[in-house]
Amino acid sequence: MQGAALRVAGLPGRYEALDVPPDRLADLLPRLRDEGAGGNVTIPHKEALARAAAHLTPEARRVGAVNTFWHESGELVGHNTDLGGARAAVEALWSPGIEDRPVLLLGAGGSAAALLVALAERRHGGVRVVARTPTRAERLAERLGVAAVVVPAEAQAGSEAGVPRALVEEAGLLVNATPIGQRDGAEPVPVSWLAPEAAVLDLVYASGGTAWVRACRAAGRPAEDGRRMLVEQGALAFAAWFGVEADRDAMWTAVEDG
Ligand code: NAP
Repeated sequence: MQGAALRVAGLPGRYEALDVPPDRLADLLPRLRDEGAGGNVTIPHKEALARAAAHLTPEARRVGAVNTFWHESGELVGHNTDLGGARAAVEALWSPGIEDRPVLLLGAGGSAAALLVALAERRHGGVRVVARTPTRAERLAERLGVAAVVVPAEAQAGSEAGVPRALVEEAGLLVNATPIGQRDGAEPVPVSWLAPEAAVLDLVYASGGTAWVRACRAAGRPAEDGRRMLVEQGALAFAAWFGVEADRDAMWTAVEDG
C-alpha cells in the first residue's frame, strides 16, 4: 500500500517490514535515528514507542500509543494515525438513525483503543464494550478516560463473539474489533439480531468485504469492513512523512490485490 503511494507520487524510498522482537526495539532505535528513518509500528511496539518518543502529536497523546514515527532534528516524533482511520470509518457509517441508540464495540485489544476514542467522540452517551476479558476493557477505558459500560462476553447460542442478543438488538452501530471472521468467514453476531436502523463496522478486512459485511449489506444494513480504516491510517501516515497527500485509490487497489 505504501509502496503503491510512493510510486504514484514519484518519491524515492522503500517501505520494508522489519520483524523486531519486543526486547530488541531499544537496540533498533539509535539506528533508525542515525538513518533519519520514518515508519509505522504495530503491536506489540505501539505503547513502547510512545514512551520512547521525544515528542508526541496530540493524536498519539490521546490514544497513548504510536503507530507512525519520524525524526526531526535527530529526535523521535510519535504520531497515531489509527485514530484518524477510526474516525473516518465511523463517520462513513454515522447517520441520524444511529444517533439515539447505543454503540457496541466487540473486543478490547490493540485496535479497540482508537475505536473507543473515535466512538466516544461521536457518541457522548458512552460506549458499550463486550469483552472476553472484561478487566482488559475496563483498564483500556480508564486509561483513555472514556465512559464505557463493560459487558463480559459469554457463551451464547448463535453469537460467536458471546454478545447478549438484547445488546445487539438495541445497538445503532456495532463494531467488531475481534479477529472473528478473519480466517473462516464466521459472523460475530447473527445478522438477524440487528435492528433495522443498525450499521456495522467490521475491522477485519477482505477483498470485496468480509462475509459478515456482505451478509449485513444483503439484509439492507449499511456495513463496511476494515479497508477504509486501513487505507486512511496509511494515507495519513504518508502525508505526515512527506507533506503531500497519498493517492488513496492506488493504496486501495494495492490492498484489494493483497
Ligand atoms: P488483539 O489485540 O489481539 O485483540 C483482539 C480482541 O478480540 C481481544 O479483546 C480478544 O479478547 C478478542 N477476541 C479474540 N477472539 C475472540 C472471540 N472468539 N470471541 C470474543 N472475543 C475475542 O487484535 P487487534 O489488533 O485488536 O485486531 C483485531 C482485528 O482487527 C484483527 O482481525 C485485525 O486484523 C483487525 N485490524 C484491522 C485494522 C484496520 O485498519 N482495519 C487495524 C487493526 C486491526 P481477549 O482480550 O480475551 O484475548
